Amino acid sequence: MSDRVAADRGVVVACGNCGKKNRIPFRRMRETATCGNCGTAGEALGAPIDVADPQGFDQLIAESPLPVLVDFWAEGCGPCRMVAPEIAKVAAQEKSSIVVAKVNTEQLPALSARFSVQSIPMMAVFASGREAARTMGARPAPGIVQFVREAVAKSTV
Ligand code: ZN
Repeated sequence: MSDRVAADRGVVVACGNCGKKNRIPFRRMRETATCGNCGTAGEALGAPIDVADPQGFDQLIAESPLPVLVDFWAEGCGPCRMVAPEIAKVAAQEKSSIVVAKVNTEQLPALSARFSVQSIPMMAVFASGREAARTMGARPAPGIVQFVREAVAKSTV
């Protein structure tokens, strides 16, 4: 697991200074949080968030103040490895407008089954708590951003 994990009641962020895990509620994901141990500022956004369990996933989708791009992936999937750095770029560049989450389909098979994930990498956009669009296969960061923007625009019509 990475330094950002979507779990029950929020994103658990490992402090960049002392390593303490601080929880940022999903509804407050855009805000900077102060480490409870050392006072260093930390944030939930800016890098992909690993989904720990279905409960954390459901809360993230329901409570996120921003559209959520979810990357369904697995170890040993070549195209998933290709798209991972692109997904990370999107998370860094678009942190004010897109939440980026990752679901390991081997660790979370029930979640993958619920969304009928058959081919990976699969990227899905969730807006206002619902799936707005999905796409299969890898693409560069600008293409991913465009996919998210179009999905969100359609979902709000
Ligand atoms: Zn700290």
